[in-house]
Amino acid sequence: MTKTTNNAATRIAARSDRRRFIAGGAALAGAWMLPRAVRDANAGPGFDAEVIVIGAGLAGLNAALLLEELGVSVMVVEATSRFGGRMHTVADDIVPGYPELGANGIGGGYARMLNAARQYGVEIGPMRPRTEPREGEMLFCIQGQLISEDDWPGHALNPYRQEWARQMPPSRPPYQLYAELNPFPKSDLGAWRRPEFAEWDRSVGEVLTEAGLAEGGVELGAGLNSGYGTDHHDLSVLMMFHTISFAMHQANWPGQGGAAKGGNQRIPEAMADNLTGDVLLNSPVAAIADEGQRVQVTLEDGRRLHAARAIIAMPFSALRRIALEPEPPAAQKAAIDELGYTPCTQVHYAVKQPYWEQDGMAPSMWTDALPGRFMALKNDPASPEAVTSCLAYINGRSALKLAHMDEEAAIAEVTAELFRLRPSLKDALEPVYLWKWSNNPYAGGAYAYWKPGQITAFARTIAEPHGRIHFAGEHTARLNRGMEGAMESGERAAIEILEYL
Ligand SMILES: Cc1cc2nc3c(=O)[nH]c(=O)nc-3n(C[C@H](O)[C@H](O)[C@H](O)COP(=O)(O)OP(=O)(O)OC[C@H]3O[C@@H](n4cnc5c(N)ncnc54)[C@H](O)[C@@H]3O)c2cc1C
Repeated sequence: MTKTTNNAATRIAARSDRRRFIAGGAALAGAWMLPRAVRDANAGPGFDAEVIVIGAGLAGLNAALLLEELGVSVMVVEATSRFGGRMHTVADDIVPGYPELGANGIGGGYARMLNAARQYGVEIGPMRPRTEPREGEMLFCIQGQLISEDDWPGHALNPYRQEWARQMPPSRPPYQLYAELNPFPKSDLGAWRRPEFAEWDRSVGEVLTEAGLAEGGVELGAGLNSGYGTDHHDLSVLMMFHTISFAMHQANWPGQGGAAKGGNQRIPEAMADNLTGDVLLNSPVAAIADEGQRVQVTLEDGRRLHAARAIIAMPFSALRRIALEPEPPAAQKAAIDELGYTPCTQVHYAVKQPYWEQDGMAPSMWTDALPGRFMALKNDPASPEAVTSCLAYINGRSALKLAHMDEEAAIAEVTAELFRLRPSLKDALEPVYLWKWSNNPYAGGAYAYWKPGQITAFARTIAEPHGRIHFAGEHTARLNRGMEGAMESGERAAIEILEYL
């Protein structure tokens, strides 16, 4: 389908009939064919495309594909050498089993994700549980003591007072309470942004304490290893209600989810393969300016690109490093500068020996110490019981501490602590890969989280178009979360643009 436009001057004269990659960084020059000269930065007041999409994660790719499908010319500009952003699979020759550094599970109700996989020919295989190992495969390590799942309910170090809470793994009681306290109507995924629930825009620590969870339990369950936020003080319970509603909505959906065969990154790669406009890799954006008649995007290497409109599809943690003109309204500016991003550092290990056979304990281990959640991954669909690699999945303040250490020192500290806590790991594991999301300049953390008061302050304005500049990305999703939220946001931004072109 070709879309008619009332702004014909902005159409580029000749559309390429296939995608053109233009490698920006000298380091990768030659890695891609350069079918034509890189545009001269001073070529004058032309247009490089009708729309420039900044960021080749799911949100940007989905927006670009939808616009192209409707006949709009799009240029995609990406800082790194790869597609997918926070969909990032480790190569099998580095860590076996294609473990994910980023997004892991595709829910059965991720309609846009599953549709993209189907449309672009990516096979979906079985779900690969990561941060929540299967029941009966978990060991707890609290204050240096190894405690089996069976011993945990009656153990002296179990801080919970209520019997129901004592029976659960340390991280679960807060989630039970979020589910019980959740005031949103069932399957109302937009409720979290509505003013009527603003009274809940308070810290999870405050609300869980009021709900009767023992202080040590709040700290253990929601303060350490928190999958969201840095600790129990800086995360809004309103966001956790939305997270719970979304998870329940997914669980109740009849569709079948899973993970992409060969790694989830195959999905954005396949999406990118279907773009027809120019794609600039290795091209970090340094400044974005709405000049009135067009948007100017300036790359770090000085090139300047122009389009009628731009979609900023990068995380706000990356955008806050970039000059944006004119300055957005106060609430949106506050969102760009202050929205939280969950700290996450990962150390991946090759497994040389079945340590769980040697010590007779469960292969995975939830700790209250530096290694966070230690996971035995089972990522080979052909051999579902085999441990393919292990992972120390570290969140919260520990992740931030590691993010600021040099790589060798960070690996050494996590590994030494693991060996101290569980000596059978010593001859069984070899560290092979470290990944830090927090100080990655193009991610700034694993995913957005809302601090107390932030949903009230800017959830409804965060994604408002700012002149010719539009916003996409998981942090701007209104109904869905994670990958599906990113896809939803790209769709919303594309539709917004169609109203203007
Ligand atoms: C550890 C982890 C676990 C996760 N688990 C799940 C899960 O199980 N389920 C789920 O649904 N979701 C999960 N997610 C979240 C999911 O990965 C994200 O919501 C989604 O991939 C975000 O897509 P996006 O397009 O919004 O952003 P991104 O994927 O971050 O894309 C943004 C792009 O912008 C680029 N960029 C940044 N700065 C610039 C710049 N200056 N110039 C040009 N380009 C720039 C980046 O390089 C990146 O490619 C997880 C994420 C992480 C990190």
